[in-house]
Amino acid sequence: MFPVELSIVIPLLNEAESLPELTQWIARVLVARGLTYEVLLIDDGSTDDSWGVIEALATGDATLRGIRFNRNYGKSAALNVGFEAARGRVVCTMDADLQDSPEELPELYRMITEDRFDLVSGWKQKRFDPLSKTIPTKLFNGATRWISGIKLHDFNCGLKAYDQRVVKSIEVYGEMHRYIPVIAKWNGFRRIGEKVVQHQERKYGVTKFGLERFVYGFLDLASITFVSRFRRRPMHFFGTLGTLSFFFGMLLTLWLTGEKVWLAYHNLRARNVTDQPLFFLALVAVIVGVQLFLAGFLAEMVQLNGPRRNDYLVRETLN
Ligand code: UDP
Ligand code: MG
Repeated sequence: MFPVELSIVIPLLNEAESLPELTQWIARVLVARGLTYEVLLIDDGSTDDSWGVIEALATGDATLRGIRFNRNYGKSAALNVGFEAARGRVVCTMDADLQDSPEELPELYRMITEDRFDLVSGWKQKRFDPLSKTIPTKLFNGATRWISGIKLHDFNCGLKAYDQRVVKSIEVYGEMHRYIPVIAKWNGFRRIGEKVVQHQERKYGVTKFGLERFVYGFLDLASITFVSRFRRRPMHFFGTLGTLSFFFGMLLTLWLTGEKVWLAYHNLRARNVTDQPLFFLALVAVIVGVQLFLAGFLAEMVQLNGPRRNDYLVRETLN
């Protein structure tokens, strides 16, 4: 049913030195296990000789496929294109920089096909990266675990394996490659496994991500959480917050008015309403409430006219 058993999708940006070694190593491991496979090298707009190397490697090697972007779009884009092109029963992703070991591939394949996981993520239990990277990564993983409820140690590991159904039904964009397990879970792929994997120091070249990765990472987590829960019903989100804020403001307003009237009735001296901090709180709460409510309406209308209003993931149909 599938042309090959295993597809290996490898996004790469300026990794020319690593490619020959990487592809040979993959071939050695998989041929020894007797697995049929294809390697998809996605050149994400490299400015070094990566594409030349890919062309040279692909001549006379039918297992190698290459896709070249016209410019650098980012790892998520490269993965997305690789996922669309992949033909294997199981699709694995790995980094091109030889930090991930191809020796892990057969076991990942087995976990998908025999243990029937939808997705298996690598866990670089022993990492060979600088502290500036490992400490923020711990925070990132903790936050993602907490919000998504997925018990993975290492969300951003480049080495992962998927059942083909998973990669064909999810879309990865922006910097969302860090959250593929989260996207998968919210699409109903709940069998998510983990495998401890070997990790090496980068052998050639330099890392392609700077510190901005952490800022973008958290923003992406916020939007992914929002989108997956409320994309089809934004009013539930904005409307709830808006209503709460509005009623809070109204309560304060009533209280202020009541107090004023009561004091006047009893001929007591009172501050001006506008001299009280509570007044400003009430004002802000009412205005913010109305704004949120309107945002909800607008989002609902945008959503109503959007092109993908009813795109549900159908697993199977009969007849
Ligand atoms: N990469 C990519 N496009 C980019 C940035 C990175 O395809 O815009 C690739 C990169 O070539 C490597 C993988 O994504 O194969 C992981 O990148 P890197 O090793 O620099 O990240 P790190 O290991 O430092 O987290
Ligand atoms: Mg790396």
